[in-house]
Amino acid sequence: MLERLKNFVDGDWRPSNAVETLKVINPATAKPLAEVPLSPAGEVDAAVVAAQKAFVEWRRRPAGERIQPLFKLKILLEENLDDLARTITEECGKTFAESVGELRRAIENVEVACGIPSLMQGCNSEDIASGIDEHMVRQPLGVVAAITPFNFPAMIPFWFLPYAVATGNCFILKPSERVPLSSNKLFHLIRTAGFPPGVLQLVNGGKETVNAILDHPSIRAISFVGSTATARYIYSRAAANGKRAQCQGGAKNPVVVMPDADMEMTTRILVDSAFGCAGQRCLAASVAITVGEARKVLTEQLVEAANHRKVGYGLDQGVEMGPVISAESKARIEGLIAKGVREGARLLIDGRDRKTKDYEDGFFVFPTVMDEVPPQGEIAHTEIFGPVLSLMHVTSIDEAIRMVNARSYGNMACIFTHDGANARRFRYEVNAGNVGINVGVAAPIAYFPFSGWGESFFGDLHAQAHHGVEFYTQTKVVVERWPSQWNRKF
Ligand code: NAD
Repeated sequence: MLERLKNFVDGDWRPSNAVETLKVINPATAKPLAEVPLSPAGEVDAAVVAAQKAFVEWRRRPAGERIQPLFKLKILLEENLDDLARTITEECGKTFAESVGELRRAIENVEVACGIPSLMQGCNSEDIASGIDEHMVRQPLGVVAAITPFNFPAMIPFWFLPYAVATGNCFILKPSERVPLSSNKLFHLIRTAGFPPGVLQLVNGGKETVNAILDHPSIRAISFVGSTATARYIYSRAAANGKRAQCQGGAKNPVVVMPDADMEMTTRILVDSAFGCAGQRCLAASVAITVGEARKVLTEQLVEAANHRKVGYGLDQGVEMGPVISAESKARIEGLIAKGVREGARLLIDGRDRKTKDYEDGFFVFPTVMDEVPPQGEIAHTEIFGPVLSLMHVTSIDEAIRMVNARSYGNMACIFTHDGANARRFRYEVNAGNVGINVGVAAPIAYFPFSGWGESFFGDLHAQAHHGVEFYTQTKVVVERWPSQWNRKF
């Protein structure tokens, strides 16, 4: 009998009355792990009512006290790291080491949010006119919610959750229905950490649950991460309902390789970027653009390295790449590879129809390299979100930068070179929110805001760090005069 997951509302685990449920599938074995309810609107409302009740006291608690359960949560996350990582791998497919990596970034965000007493300080000016002072303070919004994707089940909720509650809000998480087990484990730790009931809540579900969140009049702000189509939809509906929204979307990340790059290092980093997490990272390299003579040597080395990548179940020793998330995803990726070939690309390595020993039912796509991908074709611009690297070739850095800037997404762009002037020009001119110089996954650490440009992001304030603090607070300006004998003397 499969476990049916519960929601965490008002400080307790509650069974959902959902009529519809989905099976959570281990993508390496294709076996079900649990059943997740698609919670109806009434259950979102119950969470909002509990959050509103909790907000009254939580926002009045001094910031230095609000962060105490976060310190405890950090310890609990460290103590349970291996167990959490195993769960991430089981439901999401990435390797155990990759799961540990995402948990490290989650913990880092908790650490940064523990600095809220100074991060959320306001500012003031004395004597803006004689005897009149002006102060700006930051106050929490109230009830806020986040809707997250499948590919980083533990890290992405933590781009938001610690900042939201440390600044005094009450937070509701709607995790991806494909990977709800990690959130389930995280909320067991959150419960132990000692947050008051209603401050942090978990509501499982799918589209209808999301719509109930977007339409709820008492939810003040929405943080979203997922595909561009959903991001655009959520941004519009949240804005139409008068909410703040920050919505991160999809990506198609180009990496430019100059002829003077260290080819051995570039190959190693590029292969990790393109095939790590089976290409299901929003910061995965998906197009390598070689300049001039970089083409020949990079292509040969890439093919060699991609061919040797060990594919299998992420919990097994030595495995470097796991499966993609679902059978549908595998079929979509394989369909896009076929489309690339129809558009004129040459398949240097074909990752379709390859079997993985002991896991024949799993949703595996092996590393795939497509050469001479036509720049105007669909494959050059469509997010594949799988282990597929496209190669394109140009003769100058001008052409490469034009190609980078021709795309609608702007999550990340990278350059590999030894030439500082080319590197500077690249970082100055490319349209991307994250730039890597001799780096293949330019993911900002938690002390920096994180987000893309263009079709990769809808909103203005990004995730993490001081942007998180600004997103979850509203400013209030107080202009103050205290008439007295002393003031009048001057
Ligand atoms: P997705 O858009 O399918 O789902 C994301 C969330 O939205 C889930 O919680 C899901 O329940 C909900 N959702 C999906 N369709 C909906 C709809 N029609 N109405 C209401 N809610 C809906 O994304 P995914 O497949 O889980 O994640 C992969 C995508 O996320 C990729 O495009 C990837 O690039 C992107 N991503 C972006 C970033 C970033 O920082 N920009 C980070 C990670 C992932």
